[in-house]
Amino acid sequence: MNTTPRVRFAPSPTGALHIGGVRTALYNYLFARRHGGSMILRIEDTDTNRYVEGAEKYIIDSLQWLGIEFDEGVSFGGKHAPYRQSERKDIYRKYVDRLIADGKAYYAFDTPEELEEKRSQTANFQYDASTRMSMNNSLVLPADEVSRRIANGEKYVVRIRIEPNEEIVVNDIIRGEVRINSTILDDKVLWKSADGLPTYHLANIVDDHLMEITHVIRGEEWLPSAPLHVLLYRYFGWQDTMPQFAHLPLLLKPDGKGKLSKRDGDRLGFPVFPLDWTDPITGEKTSGYREAGYFPEAVINFLALLGWNPGSEQEIFSKEELIEAFSLERCSRSGARFDYEKGKWFNHKYLQTKPTEELAKYVMPFFADNIFDDKDKYRKLLAAIDSVKERATFPKELFEFVEFFFTAPESFADSDLKKRWKEDTPRLLTELAEILRALPNLDDEQATEESVKQWCEAKGYSLGAVMNPFRLVLVGQMKGPHIFTITRILGRTETVNRINSALKIIEKI
Ligand code: GLU
Repeated sequence: MNTTPRVRFAPSPTGALHIGGVRTALYNYLFARRHGGSMILRIEDTDTNRYVEGAEKYIIDSLQWLGIEFDEGVSFGGKHAPYRQSERKDIYRKYVDRLIADGKAYYAFDTPEELEEKRSQTANFQYDASTRMSMNNSLVLPADEVSRRIANGEKYVVRIRIEPNEEIVVNDIIRGEVRINSTILDDKVLWKSADGLPTYHLANIVDDHLMEITHVIRGEEWLPSAPLHVLLYRYFGWQDTMPQFAHLPLLLKPDGKGKLSKRDGDRLGFPVFPLDWTDPITGEKTSGYREAGYFPEAVINFLALLGWNPGSEQEIFSKEELIEAFSLERCSRSGARFDYEKGKWFNHKYLQTKPTEELAKYVMPFFADNIFDDKDKYRKLLAAIDSVKERATFPKELFEFVEFFFTAPESFADSDLKKRWKEDTPRLLTELAEILRALPNLDDEQATEESVKQWCEAKGYSLGAVMNPFRLVLVGQMKGPHIFTITRILGRTETVNRINSALKIIEKI
């Protein structure tokens, strides 16, 4: 590569950023960082009908949470500012005029009703070389009539003039050479007088050119637009600086059949958005990865492998490792199945690597009181987290697993009592409490275990008859880490207290 790459992520603020869009941003980012290039955030907001309040902020917040950083763009600034297309109106108009002057675009006055009529008369009607001469445009109307209509403020659009039977080649790093015949393309609208704004195609090409974009990395759904884009570069005479294309594979439903949609997430219970999102019009709420308890690094790692193959068995990658290993050549052409169970697996793995103090920060908000302020409680929290974290995938689970360390159980499930609570259980537990009370402390798990076992052996008690109800009175249910890990963390006084108070509660049942 002889020029420093410049790539852009160019979302339209039409709603929450879909997880597929996040993957596009990520691949652009990894590519830019891999080659020491620049990453630009451009907001493509020229379609005023589809504009959604709050979407731009949502996009920026999401990418910030994920650690996908930009060098230039909306909210970052840069030498090509403004980066919001609605603020670049005047720039586009100049280029539209140039195409018209060169005979490569023309004014069209057809009303929506007229177009509708054509469509109903002709099956598969397309505005192109075969039909344009029977339409209401500047190729047909006398020049003075065109000027008069424009001067009178009549609404018009500017359409690209596509010549039939020309070969268009899209060079795609992932897909190779894609060849199409221009006959299948229609004379797309490039600009509308109604709002003085260009359409996506024109704004996208002009900006990629002006912003010196070298690689266009985007979702496969944009591949059908690529021939028109190639043609526009040709019309403007910008072939020499035309970016290279890389169209990323689709994200597929978890069962591999069809494109992943928001409904799959609702149906199967996994987020398809990075952050919680409330639709400003319908008020509908959709949950995001952040609020569901995913770590940004886990989401990044998971997404990186959905469509890119490192060529090795390695699955866990830090961001730096991803940057080091990433290449567009190793992106696949076929769709990537969205295996959200794998996403959970990544979160589980990342949770295991987090320092306990950091996990405590995630768990803290679930507690009613502030545990940080109480040194003993905080120490206990750290120990409790360590004892349960290997079973947890999300911080919320961590909280559920450690909660019993802070609140002694006050009720016991009937089914557990039936199964574990025998005639002589109260006597055994009362004796156990005495044994424990006699120990200096319960800090050494093995020592505690030894003492309890020796006592059982000496008395001829079965271990199960003691340990099962013991767990029940400490935890409230037959769950939790190793019993002598629990007693170590609870400490001697609390352990003995829990035995005694449970005996009182159960006696009354
Ligand atoms: N504005 C388009 C989008 O919403 C950009 C497509 C492209 O990257 O060219 O994805």
